Amino acid sequence: MSTKSSRQCPKCKSNELILLPWLGVIYQCKKCGYRGPLTIEKRTRKTKKLKI
Ligand SMILES: [Zn+2]
Repeated sequence: MSTKSSRQCPKCKSNELILLPWLGVIYQCKKCGYRGPLTIEKRTRKTKKLKI
C-alpha cells in the first residue's frame, strides 16, 4: 500500500505535477501549465498547525 499522497491539478485534475522547489512550494502541471502552491490532495486529513 502506498502512503504517498497524490496531488491533483485544481484546473484539469491531472496528477502530473512537477514540484518546483526553488520557488518555494510551487507545483506546475504538465498538462495545462497551471502553476501555483495549491493542489488537491486526494486524501483529506487535518492540517497540522505549525508553530514558528
Ligand atoms: Zn492542470
